Amino acid sequence: MEIDYIVVGCGLAGIAFCEQLRTHNKSFVVFDDSSQRSSTVAGGLYNPVVLKRFTSVWKSKEQLEKALPLYNKLAKQFGVQLDYKIPVYRKFASLEEQNDWFAASDKPNLSEYLSSKIVKNTNKNINAPFGFGEVLGTGRIDVNTLVESYKNYLSKKNILLKESFNYSAIESTDQGVSCKGIKASQIVFSEGFGVNKNTFFKDLPLVPAKGELLIIEAPDLNMDFVLKGNGFLIPIGNHQYIVGATYNWNDTTHQLTDKAKEELLDKLKNLITCKFKVVGQVAGIRPTVKDRRPLVGQHHQHKNLYVLNGLGTRGVMIGPYVAEQLFDFIEHKKPLEKEIDIKRFGI
Ligand SMILES: Cc1cc2nc3c(=O)[nH]c(=O)nc-3n(C[C@H](O)[C@H](O)[C@H](O)COP(=O)(O)OP(=O)(O)OC[C@H]3O[C@@H](n4cnc5c(N)ncnc54)[C@H](O)[C@@H]3O)c2cc1C
Repeated sequence: MEIDYIVVGCGLAGIAFCEQLRTHNKSFVVFDDSSQRSSTVAGGLYNPVVLKRFTSVWKSKEQLEKALPLYNKLAKQFGVQLDYKIPVYRKFASLEEQNDWFAASDKPNLSEYLSSKIVKNTNKNINAPFGFGEVLGTGRIDVNTLVESYKNYLSKKNILLKESFNYSAIESTDQGVSCKGIKASQIVFSEGFGVNKNTFFKDLPLVPAKGELLIIEAPDLNMDFVLKGNGFLIPIGNHQYIVGATYNWNDTTHQLTDKAKEELLDKLKNLITCKFKVVGQVAGIRPTVKDRRPLVGQHHQHKNLYVLNGLGTRGVMIGPYVAEQLFDFIEHKKPLEKEIDIKRFGI
């Protein structure tokens, strides 16, 4: 088989890159062994504002302009709903925080995303005496449905190989790469934390950040916005909500832990006062980077090998933005932004 690309990994990064390939009529196959779960468990929020510090997310506008049309195109193609427009309400812990919010909502790059009105809490089951600030232009992508639908689509086209990619089987020459009878011009690795097994890119400074979430059922809550305090609560329908999230930099397993459950229950009890039942718990490893920028680029020696990783805590927004940059770099020699290029680490 002779094709243009091999893509390793079918999470948010891999899907965004495959969409570049489809748009430009490139042939490809995708390897995915379901060993990583960051995309399938993700809360899926997109939110242009860092709500801890009231600052704008890096390139948020440019990212959203690429991401939302892509997810909406895929939703149409697969006949599913992926994009749930829903406001994010930031709970204020004090009057001082309200003032900080007002000040931030006046700043040029934030004013279009932060409503300057304070929203009063009218829901007796929510604990928010100082009210909320509303973030505009937010929503949730149902990433699990996206990944499932995308894999089904690839399977039907016979271009999904549900197996682990064997790095030692790669033969790389100036003309391209071959691996298990597949000859391709390029390989793009988008394995999330799975890159730690990749002999070519394992030295990238990827920092695994395990995250756990709970799914709860709270019939009396009736909340139709995302609530963000110390932790967040996302409505997903049928009186169910996602409670998030934990950060653990020492554990790289997908094991569910009681410690995370307790931490999330503490956060939840600070946000709501009504009865609820825990109906699920999930875990995944976020592929984060110390400087909070993705890891994109070309292998220094094997020029047909590329990486698309480090989407961190915001893969929904950033994936399509960096996938386009990588495609333009490979096909049109357009330089990558220095901030995302792996060369910044001397790699
Ligand atoms: C608890 C939690 C909550 C989150 N919430 C949000 C959120 O609300 N909004 C947001 O934008 N982001 C969120 N994120 C972050 C987001 O999930 C990540 O940025 C994103 O999923 C990373 O995508 P990826 O494709 O790089 O990696 P992954 O999703 O890990 O995908 C990599 C894929 O590669 C495959 N793979 C790996 N190695 C191999 C191999 N050798 N052979 C074959 N296949 C391989 C894996 O099986 C996997 O399918 C959250 C993450 C977690 C863990």
